[in-house]
Amino acid sequence: MSISEFQHQLPECNLFFGKNTLQKIGQEGKRWGKRALLVTGRKSMQELGFLQEAIDCLESEGLSWVHYNKVQPNPTVQIVDEGAKMAQEKSCDVIVALGGGSAIDTGKAIAVGAAHFSNSDSTIWDYVGVGEQKACRITSRTLPLVVATSTSGSGSHVTPYAVITNSRTEQKVGFYSKYIFPKGSIVDVRLPSKMSADLTANTGFDVLAHATESFTGRGDHPIADIYSLKAMELVKDNLPEVCRNGGNMKARSCMALADTMAGLAITLAGTTMGHALSQILGGHYDFPHGLATALVSSAIWRFTIENGDKRAVERYTRIAQKLGEKITPPPTREKAMRAVKGLNELLQTIGIDKSLSDFGVRKRDIDRLAQDTLEYMRVDLGRHPTQISRKNLVSVLEESF
Ligand code: NDP
Ligand code: MN
Repeated sequence: MSISEFQHQLPECNLFFGKNTLQKIGQEGKRWGKRALLVTGRKSMQELGFLQEAIDCLESEGLSWVHYNKVQPNPTVQIVDEGAKMAQEKSCDVIVALGGGSAIDTGKAIAVGAAHFSNSDSTIWDYVGVGEQKACRITSRTLPLVVATSTSGSGSHVTPYAVITNSRTEQKVGFYSKYIFPKGSIVDVRLPSKMSADLTANTGFDVLAHATESFTGRGDHPIADIYSLKAMELVKDNLPEVCRNGGNMKARSCMALADTMAGLAITLAGTTMGHALSQILGGHYDFPHGLATALVSSAIWRFTIENGDKRAVERYTRIAQKLGEKITPPPTREKAMRAVKGLNELLQTIGIDKSLSDFGVRKRDIDRLAQDTLEYMRVDLGRHPTQISRKNLVSVLEESF
């Protein structure tokens, strides 16, 4: 085994994993502030009673709070800007986000905005930096963030990334800062166990996407590999079960662990072409993120295995094994291709073996989607194990119809 050069930088984060850990939210909030902006989506956390539970915990630790509940999937610049200005007006000194990747990403972006906005025209978009555009600097003034994740998907509770959509330009772009890595992170398995089968499948596929992209990408990180491989195994063994039987808490715990490991893996090694395309689709079509990733995955894997070097062949062969294919060494392109078979079987079992046309994507948009991907998803494309041309993007998109 040859080991590549790597860095291992994980910001300090208190992570609590397990049943009832939501109870830690007050204690964690109190370590960082006195007045919390509590960021959630519009419905789920309130309806399931977790919002009230979080409020009770904050109050019992002596924190005051202001609730901001406007987050929607594919959170927008406008929602972030409004939340950041509210945090400033109400003098909040800590951001507490409760929900899925969208609520957590919004919380992260609000933490930046609340600390850096200087006037009523300030906007988070200036801190995102699209393509060649230079972004404003995010500093250590960023408000501290405590989060509790309610999906087993985005991994956002353990990443330094946030993904925000500009609905005017239809661009969905991620930004990075070590200052938005949550200071306190809660994975209480009671929360994701309430997801519907559809939501479980979409968000659960995102975990596999993080694990396989970080494992195959040029981020090449031996410690991320350990997280990625374990996450693949956990997804293969538990995602079909949680889609069938949402009340199986053991399987739900395994998915929550897989989500956390895959989140750490992308923190260390990043994502690749799957996330590049899924963000572009999310920006133009307001797609559920995990579903968008699933719809293009099969074509991307096939393209990469056909065109990949020896390392890519070896990596996809290991993925095939993790997805249950019985393969003996040495790795070959043919054996690597069995990863696509394992992937398609999994997609079918969890009910998302669908095509882009099933969700209203128009063939005539393919050129624009490919162009946008090249223009502002360069970092993800650059990490992909193969070179990617405009022609490659077009054919992967065409194959996903
Ligand atoms: P979302 O946070 O978008 O949530 C999707 C839907 O699920 C919402 O309608 C929400 O409702 C509902 N919901 C959330 N939790 C529950 C629950 N426990 N029970 C029932 N319903 C629930 O989903 P994801 O977690 O998949 O996050 C996706 C976002 O994360 C995307 O924008 C994606 O780009 C981003 N992402 C971020 C990464 C990062 O590192 N920062 C990495 C990868 C993806 P309601 O709004 O009412 O709460
Ligand atoms: Mn993702």
